[in-house]
Order: sequence, then structure tokens, then C-alpha cells
Amino acid sequence: MFKPIKILDENDPIVREKNIDVTFPLSKEDKKMIQHMIDHLTNSQIEELSIKYDLRPGMGLAAPQVGINKNYFVVVHEVDEQVFDNYVLINPKIVSHSEELIYASTGEGCLSVNREVEGIVPRFARVTIEAYDEDGNKIRVRAREELAIAFQHEFDHLNGILFTDRIDKDNPFKDKDKMRMI
Ligand code: ZN
Repeated sequence: MFKPIKILDENDPIVREKNIDVTFPLSKEDKKMIQHMIDHLTNSQIEELSIKYDLRPGMGLAAPQVGINKNYFVVVHEVDEQVFDNYVLINPKIVSHSEELIYASTGEGCLSVNREVEGIVPRFARVTIEAYDEDGNKIRVRAREELAIAFQHEFDHLNGILFTDRIDKDNPFKDKDKMRMI
């Protein structure tokens, strides 16, 4: 029986705290939480289930958002109608990125930010991340466009950074012409 995860709000100090690297093998609790995060995000993107369980749709969650100050995040990317690619990135590092910057036309959202925030969040158009999978194997993931934005958004969470921090307070649409809208 699925139960929604309790997700911390942006005002909770835990989402701003320092996160520590995960050691392997993963604890039972972390394994369980990772599966729960995947289930929550998947259900949130299936309309009937998002209504049934009262879930805000989202494609990513980082451990600090669920009260765990460890370096990992999960992204569930819908690649086709109800077909999802799951990414579990543990102790991730961005090892390279494009020069080109992009931003999401609809703005970014976050399951910890329960208000509308307008403005441009500059992101690299392409990133390469090195991380570990759940079994402790080193992995290298390349992402572009929407998925690249999701990875950078979640990676920021591991440094206590929210997307709202990256929006210019005085001019939320600053440098719009210097980036590509997606
Ligand atoms: Zn977020």
C-alpha cells in the first residue's frame, strides 16, 4: 500500500543543512527510502494516482527534502506516455558541462516550495555527472535539456541551494536574451 512521503518545506532548516556522502553498502533505510522516492515521483506524474493520493507532480527529490542529510537524489523522467526512466545518483559530482545556458519556459518548481515563484533559473544545457548507483558501482550519466535541468536542480539541493536562490531578486528575468528557453 503506497503512502505519500512527507516532504519538508523550504522553511525547514534541514533542507539548508550540510549533507554527507553515503557509504556502501547502503543501509536498509536508505534503500527503502530510495524506492519510496521513486514510487512517490512516479505516482505523482500519473494523473489518476496524483489525484488519488493528493500528490503534487514532480520529477525529482533529493534526500534532504525528505529529512535525510545525505548526498543522493532521485529523478523520474517521463520519456513517453507513462514510461519512466529512473535515475538514482549517489554522491554525485558534475564533471563537465556545456557553455550554453538554458532555462525552463514554465519556470522551475520544487516539491519543497509551496508557492508560485516566477523568474529565470539559468542552467547548463548539458551536464555530465559521475556518481554511484545503489550497489556502489561508479556511473557516468550525460543529460541534456529538461533532464539536465532536473539534475542541476537536485544537485543544488545537496548543497542546500533552492531554485529560488538562483533567481535575481530585483530582476527575475535578467539576462533572458543570453539563454535559450526550452
Ligand atoms: Zn526541488
